[in-house]
Amino acid sequence: MPQILVILGRQGSGKGTQAALLAERYGVVHVSTGDMLRAAVAAGTELGLQAKAVMDAGNLVGDDIMIGIVGERLAAADIGARGVLLDGFPRTTAQAAALAEIAGGAGPDLAINLDVPIAEVTERMLARGRDDDTAGAIARRLELYEAETAPLLAWFEDRGCLSTVDGLGTEEEVFARLAEVVDGL
Ligand code: AMP
Repeated sequence: MPQILVILGRQGSGKGTQAALLAERYGVVHVSTGDMLRAAVAAGTELGLQAKAVMDAGNLVGDDIMIGIVGERLAAADIGARGVLLDGFPRTTAQAAALAEIAGGAGPDLAINLDVPIAEVTERMLARGRDDDTAGAIARRLELYEAETAPLLAWFEDRGCLSTVDGLGTEEEVFARLAEVVDGL
């Protein structure tokens, strides 16, 4: 069983940036489902064509599609050898259940909740100006995070693998806090 780490946080919490830094420091494979979907959109694949409208509206791509993509990716040899840091997955209880099944019934080894308040992430998303960062899509994504993803925190907590890290501060400050948690593994 490869080592499975998960990072959760509202969009705009800096989890993508921090996940890339953590993957580099600890040698695990960084798997960002948002990056995978954006690559599919850019390549104009069937998946990309389906996902684009959903992403632009700030909605979630269907569980079956996401579970399929991630399941396939987790089966690859590099992850078996190095372990994985999942960024952006799971986002729903169905995805969390699928991940547990892949992990042989257990939770991940560690789930990090990168905590940044709603007001702060809204400001950051408006400032980064990505294609899907319209005011409507931002509001929708935050609403879906509270409704679909935040309940996973309790799910990870019950499995004893949740660590919450304060995501306010400079990139270096936040990274140091995250590294301390991963070092404790
Ligand atoms: P992100 O880069 O993580 O902010 O993801 C960008 C967009 O991709 C999200 O707003 C969703 O539309 C879609 N997406 C990424 N990961 C998932 C997932 N695990 N489940 C459903 N949709 C996802």
